[in-house]
Amino acid sequence: MTVSSPVIGVLSLQGSFSEHSASLRRLGATVREIRLPQDLEGIEGIILPGGESTTFLNLLDTSQLREPLREAISSGLPTLATCAGVIILARGVTTHDMTTLGVLDITVARNAFGRQTESFEEDLSIEGIEGPAFRGVFIRAPVIDAAGPDVRVLCALRSGSPVACRQQHVLATTFHPEFIPDLRLHQFFLHMVTASGRNTSHTGT
Ligand code: GLN
Repeated sequence: MTVSSPVIGVLSLQGSFSEHSASLRRLGATVREIRLPQDLEGIEGIILPGGESTTFLNLLDTSQLREPLREAISSGLPTLATCAGVIILARGVTTHDMTTLGVLDITVARNAFGRQTESFEEDLSIEGIEGPAFRGVFIRAPVIDAAGPDVRVLCALRSGSPVACRQQHVLATTFHPEFIPDLRLHQFFLHMVTASGRNTSHTGT
């Protein structure tokens, strides 16, 4: 019995969560805003939005979400992280003293594109996304400066700097697909959710 409307959690403590939710709804997914540990129950995938990573980590602690979220992701919950969300998942942050979730084997440098280019756009070619170039919107994005052997780089800037990667069920982009009308990245993530086989089947009753 297949299911057309997976339940996707969107971490909704801060940042671009409503934009992610809108993109998911346009694709027919059911959105659950995640603010408390019990909100994680029964979701089939989760999105960590952009925002401000230090604030995110503080809010994860005050809401007591840090450990259940880390546990859910490390036990296979399909995850899409964008910008600050990538920093939260990373194994390490080379520029700041931060305790991240450490579930994605990359290190990042925060705000490392530099002041003049804090925000920029570039047309991207992303492995797994068919069709025309994908518009990458970068807003004070982190630089991925190292990636472990299980991390596949799906996209890099013309400069060679990686901006999208995947480690098994975790997909990470340092740009913001939630700020453009192009839904292909969210669609790609929903395919990952379906392929993960974690879909708990909603019968509509
Ligand atoms: N500069 C932010 C940080 O380091 C991330 C920015 C974003 O998510 N757009 O936390």
